[in-house]
Amino acid sequence: VLEKETFSFQTEVGQLLEIVAGSLYSNREVFLRELVSNASDACDKLRYAALTDASLAPSEGFAITLATDKKTLSISDNGIGMNHADLLETLGTIAKSGTGAFIQALKAEKKDAPGLIGQFGVGFYSAFMVADRVDVLTRKAGEDAAWLWSSDGKGSFTIEPATREAAGTTVTLHLKKDAKEFAEEARIRHIIKTYSEHINFPVKLGDETLNAAEALWTKAPSEISEDQYTEFYRHASHAFDIPWLTIHNKIEGSLNHTSLLFVPSMQPFDLFDPERKSHVKLYVNRVFISETTKDLVPAYLRFLRGVVDSQDLTLNVSREMLQHDPKLAKIRGQVTKKVLSEFKKKATKEPEAYAAFWGNFGAVLKEGLVEDPSLRDRILEVCRFATTGSEALTSLTGYVERMKEGQDAIFYIAGEDAGKLAQSPHLEGFKAKGVEVLLLSDPVDEFWLQHIHEFEGKPFKSITRGAADLDTIKGDADKADTEKEGAADLSKLITAIKAELGETVKDVRPSKRLTDSPVCLIADEGDIDVNLERLLKRHGQ
Ligand code: ADP
Ligand code: MG
Repeated sequence: VLEKETFSFQTEVGQLLEIVAGSLYSNREVFLRELVSNASDACDKLRYAALTDASLAPSEGFAITLATDKKTLSISDNGIGMNHADLLETLGTIAKSGTGAFIQALKAEKKDAPGLIGQFGVGFYSAFMVADRVDVLTRKAGEDAAWLWSSDGKGSFTIEPATREAAGTTVTLHLKKDAKEFAEEARIRHIIKTYSEHINFPVKLGDETLNAAEALWTKAPSEISEDQYTEFYRHASHAFDIPWLTIHNKIEGSLNHTSLLFVPSMQPFDLFDPERKSHVKLYVNRVFISETTKDLVPAYLRFLRGVVDSQDLTLNVSREMLQHDPKLAKIRGQVTKKVLSEFKKKATKEPEAYAAFWGNFGAVLKEGLVEDPSLRDRILEVCRFATTGSEALTSLTGYVERMKEGQDAIFYIAGEDAGKLAQSPHLEGFKAKGVEVLLLSDPVDEFWLQHIHEFEGKPFKSITRGAADLDTIKGDADKADTEKEGAADLSKLITAIKAELGETVKDVRPSKRLTDSPVCLIADEGDIDVNLERLLKRHGQ
């Protein structure tokens, strides 16, 4: 006979729970959104599993049921449930990369804990914001054994055998003294309306269904208010911000699909995680199939949140097979193009708003220049760059339009720090002539520049490499007099410098690119750019 066992939380979970339980947050009510969202995920998973094994489906419809008795609040679902191994694996550890960094951020920024917690996706643990004990009674679909997981959130949890009539999970919160409000029906009703109106399953309190329980994306855009979009976005992405952009698009034709996608107005915490996970959920005819599939949305659009639903994909095949379905590749192509065209609209019509987006996600989007050669031109079109020519960001087209007579290249300087770049002595000669230089400060810039050598027939040219020929360019007349001295006889000086520096430099030569600084370092024409060299060295190459 199995008995009650006690386990310690993984260190990170322990730390996290201390932070979560030890502080008071203004909108801790989001714990309910997180638990309802887990219940909804569990129903989604069982509905998917039942496609291949109908016997797993619950006899009555899927539902999430809330119950309260003044001291406790419980959230029940008839979804997939958990077995002993699942409980150990999921409710005791955090299987997410970047956990350490996240906890540091959380410690530093206690005030915004719920926001961070949500974005990090440690939803379940948010229960300890309002409860001093949490019980999880659960039984996995297709299995007979049921289990009771229990914890006071202070370092350890227990698991013991239990009984549960049907598959599913009941999470019971023993509410803290100062959290009894969450046992009040009116309060619960309000929270569900606010945060969970459009999840796909009914949320019930007694006999009353609290939410609309319809897939929002199936409605016509004209019937959906901005608030409804925002609520859906927040639920789908565990976020608190207002989406920067909402794209609700239905494609009808040989391949039907609907997408409801959002661009956040803040950077998600895992944006630069090496896994580069996508966060768009794939549905087939309203049945959830999977999240995090790169086959649906390319990695360079991983900041997108939302859903894509198609009735034309085959439901009863495995997730793996579905991911290799050419139809999915086609949907991916159409979705990607749609998103890029919406970016283009924004960039043209609202350049300032677009600059904010660009600040958050430009570095990610530019990865597509290397990864998606077929869409390179469309991506370049929506790229924006800092420039010496103006305070505002510029498009490449804008830069080319402003090129000086005789200028045959798009000049850029690349480095890590945008502020330092703008001060670089390399720029002096260009500034004096009024020739614009792009200031590229994202590491990814060096990589796409290896692949894309020109725009509209104009080559990209680093001003820290080779002899930039400023003589042929007709500069701004009033500034041109800085050149009037021509080449003074520097040969003696140069010989002396060469003797001093010896082997450490390849050559020393006079240059017109400087007006204020005496010297600057440049790479040879055929060599790699100074900044790229530095980057590669850092990555040990
Ligand atoms: P996330 O939902 O982002 O995975 P959570 O902390 O909310 O993170 O939940 C952790 C995991 O616990 C889930 O991924 C799931 O495997 C499991 N889980 C939580 N609640 C339920 C539930 N009601 N039914 C089944 N599994 C659940
Ligand atoms: Mg969750």
